[in-house]
Amino acid sequence: MEPNRNIFREYDIRAVYEEDLKGELPYYLGKSFGSAVKKDGGKSVCIGGDNRLTTPEMKDKMIKGISESGCNVADVGIVPTPVLYFAIHKYGFDAGAMVTASHNPPEFNGVKMVIGNKSLYGKDIQKLADLIEKNDFEKGHGEIRTMEADGDYADFMLKNFSFKNTLRVGIDTGNGTLGPLIVPLFKKLGIDVFPLYTDSDPSFPNHLPDPLVPENLKDLIKTVLDNKLDIGLGYDGDGDRLGVVDENGGILWGDQLLIIYAREILKKSPGASVIFDVKCSKSLEEEVKKAGGVPVMWKTGHSLIENKLHTEKAPLAGELSGHLYFADDYYGFDDAVYASLRLLRIMDRTGKKPSALLYGVKKYHATPEIRIELPDEKKFEAVENIKSHFTSKNLRISDIDGVKVFFTDGWALVRASNTQPALVVRMEAENAGSLEKIKKEFLATVDTFLV
Ligand SMILES: [Zn+2]
Repeated sequence: MEPNRNIFREYDIRAVYEEDLKGELPYYLGKSFGSAVKKDGGKSVCIGGDNRLTTPEMKDKMIKGISESGCNVADVGIVPTPVLYFAIHKYGFDAGAMVTASHNPPEFNGVKMVIGNKSLYGKDIQKLADLIEKNDFEKGHGEIRTMEADGDYADFMLKNFSFKNTLRVGIDTGNGTLGPLIVPLFKKLGIDVFPLYTDSDPSFPNHLPDPLVPENLKDLIKTVLDNKLDIGLGYDGDGDRLGVVDENGGILWGDQLLIIYAREILKKSPGASVIFDVKCSKSLEEEVKKAGGVPVMWKTGHSLIENKLHTEKAPLAGELSGHLYFADDYYGFDDAVYASLRLLRIMDRTGKKPSALLYGVKKYHATPEIRIELPDEKKFEAVENIKSHFTSKNLRISDIDGVKVFFTDGWALVRASNTQPALVVRMEAENAGSLEKIKKEFLATVDTFLV
C-alpha cells in the first residue's frame, strides 16, 4: 500500500477524505498505529471521533486494523477530543486515537494519536507511513468493545466546579462536536447559556468551527453585545481550542488568557514555569515574571507544547491559537471546556469581567499571522539564511522555533510552517509607528531570501 505521504503531517494525519483517506488506508493506519502501541509495550487503545459524516466509516476501519494488530480497542463513540483524552487518563489506556479534522472544512478528516502520555508528532507519524509501505505489522486478535465516557467527563466537571453567581455566557461551537455536551453541562452548573450554532451539523452551515479567525467570532460578538453578556466562548470543531469574547466584544487570544490563568495559578504555586509558544506577546512574559513565575518560550505546535509542559513539570501551558493545557488539578492535555470553566471560576470568585482581569497588562501592537508561500524544499533554508543575516547584524535572536529577532521596541518572528508550504511571519511592537517600521523592514529583508 502506497499512501500519500503528504497527509502524514507534523502533528497529525489530515486529508480530503474522498481523495486520500477513503478505501483501505484507515484500516492500514489502524494496523500501523496498533503495531506502534505494541512496540511501545502497550495493548489497550481508546478511540473516539468527531461529528463528521465520514468519521464512523473511518473509525470502524481503524478499529478493525488496531484489533488485528493485537491491541484491545474501546470505542467511546462520537465525542469532542478532550473527552477522548480524559478517557485515556481516567481509565488508564495505553494509547488513544481521535478521528477528527478539527476546524477543517466538511470534506476533510484525519486522526490525532497519543501513546502513553505523549501525542505523536514528527518522526513517529512518519514511522506509521513507513510501516504501511513495508506492510510490516504486528498480528493478533484484540477485543473490541464500546464504552461511554461523556457521563464521567461531565461528572468530573460538575464535581470540580461550582459558581456563586449566575454568569451570562454566549457559546458558539460552530456546529462542531462539542455543542451537545457543553450546553447541558453548563446549564447544570447554573450558568445562563446563550447558545449559538450548538447543534451538531458537520456541513458547518454557519461558519467553520475555528475561533482563531476573527470573522468566525462576529456572530458571537453580536450576541454578547446585544444581550449584555458577561463573556462569549467560541470553540473549534473538536473542542480543544478556545476563543474568548470579552464583555465589550473584544477578542482575547490565547496569550491573554494565559495571563489570567497564570496570575491565579502562581499564587498557589509561586516560582512555577508557564510554557507558551514563540508567537505569544511579550506582555505574557512580563506578566508571568510579575506574578512570580518563570516564563518559558517554546516551539509552536500542540504535541511540542504539551510535551514541554510534562518535562518542565509546569502547571500551565498554552498557545496563541487557543490550545490551553492545565496540569494544575487536571491531566495536562488541552481541553477548551476545562479552560472555559477555569476562566468562569476566576470571574465568579473575583466578581470581575474578562477585560478587568487584564488590569495592568501593557498593550502591544501586533500583526496577525502573515503567510508567505514558499515550497517545502525551500522554506527551512530560507529561515536559516534569515537567521544568519540577523545574527551578523548583532541583534538578539532566539532560534527555538524559526528565528525571532528582538529589536529595542518590538520583535519579529519567521518560521517555516509545519503544515503548509509557507513561511509564517508575526511581529509585535510598543506602538503602531514602531510596528509599521519593523513590518516594512523585516518583510523587505525576508523577501530578499525567498529566491
Ligand atoms: Zn481542534
